[in-house]
Amino acid sequence: MESPTITLTLKEGRDKPVRQRHPWIFSGAIARLTGQPAPGDLVTVADHRGQRLATAYYNAQSQIQARILSWNPDEPIDDDFWRGRLRQAIMGRASAGEQGSRGAGANELLTTDHRPLTTALRLVNAEADRLPGLVVDRYGDYLVMQCLTLGIDRRKEMITRLLVELLQPAGILERSDVDVRGKEGLRPLVELRYGEVPPEITIRENGFAFLVDVHHGHKTGFYLDQRDNRAIVGQPALMAGRDVLNVFAYTGAFGVYAAAAGARSVVQIDSSAPALEMAERHMALNNLARPEDEYIAGDAFEVLRYFRETGRQFDAVILDPPKFAHTQGQVDRAARGYKDLNWLALRLLRPEGVLATFSCSGLVSADLFQKIVFGAAVDAGRDAQIVQHLGQAADHPVLLSFPESAYLKGLLCRAL
Ligand code: SAH
Repeated sequence: MESPTITLTLKEGRDKPVRQRHPWIFSGAIARLTGQPAPGDLVTVADHRGQRLATAYYNAQSQIQARILSWNPDEPIDDDFWRGRLRQAIMGRASAGEQGSRGAGANELLTTDHRPLTTALRLVNAEADRLPGLVVDRYGDYLVMQCLTLGIDRRKEMITRLLVELLQPAGILERSDVDVRGKEGLRPLVELRYGEVPPEITIRENGFAFLVDVHHGHKTGFYLDQRDNRAIVGQPALMAGRDVLNVFAYTGAFGVYAAAAGARSVVQIDSSAPALEMAERHMALNNLARPEDEYIAGDAFEVLRYFRETGRQFDAVILDPPKFAHTQGQVDRAARGYKDLNWLALRLLRPEGVLATFSCSGLVSADLFQKIVFGAAVDAGRDAQIVQHLGQAADHPVLLSFPESAYLKGLLCRAL
């Protein structure tokens, strides 16, 4: 068990976020420390009067100098604490699955269902699961973990041991090759932590099969956060008999759903040729391969412009671009990028066309995103209705006290 020996005292007037259970303490909010904690050490957080508020782990190198683990400063941070938090996160996925179609199959972990519809999901969503800096994704029998902070990195052997105890995976891969680690003074890292992890894992998502390369794929291998949106967009009512354009396709997951829902043709665009090769394999794997389908490796903006110039039209467009805004300073430019894309997409849509448009930039709020799409529709001269507001899948919960955990937003629109 670890006990904090050092107290971090907040400046006067800077305790409100901690009291409201926001997990981050920025360097500017700190008045003093009673000693010099080693990187990753636990500290007790106190207000300027000395009232103890929480226990956090500390990293002098990071702008976010402390991340809170518990708002009860007397709660021991021992194996039971970590096991409890991990178990609560894992069990939370089960109840999300039981409550309805969203995240269906997520309860597979805890039932004896032999053919689960979904075998890949996020089990631990960092701050949102009150485990700041830790992401754990499950791909079938394997786990992929990301240690985003020094506090977690230092404890990863213990976390690995507890994950093995709780879930008995066949292997655990650490995919800590993310830029944010630089802000913590850590280097990117990919390392096998337990057992074995094959180069390709077959997962199922809502009954569809996908091949995931957890060693090299984007994020931890697959965009799990779009699972529920794929099911919503991939409905026969929206797709059947339609020409569908899947922009920023990655390995073509939206394309598989569209084809299964009866799309007449599916055109997929991505800048990554290997990702598109996988997209084609995914169609075949699900017995959906057809000669009508196209795979275009190239810059989405250029391809869409080319389609517009050549008068190519579609009945449905899916726009799932990468994160455009990484810092506040990039938000304006990102907004112009999103507007451009949505304008182009709307120009390619036939009457009654469907537009499923997304932004995964946390710094672009749902509100701002809707305004951007509105601006695009005005400029494109199209009336459009929002049929549904979309967000991240149920296994990527948002902590109310940490709104930063809401990053993916989308609009399902009908262009009239
Ligand atoms: N829709 C996908 C996830 C998309 S992630 C899914 O459901 O799995 C964003 C994708 O955009 C990545 O695959 C990346 O290779 C691609 N990309 C990034 N910039 C691009 C560009 N300028 N043109 C085309 N594709 C791009």
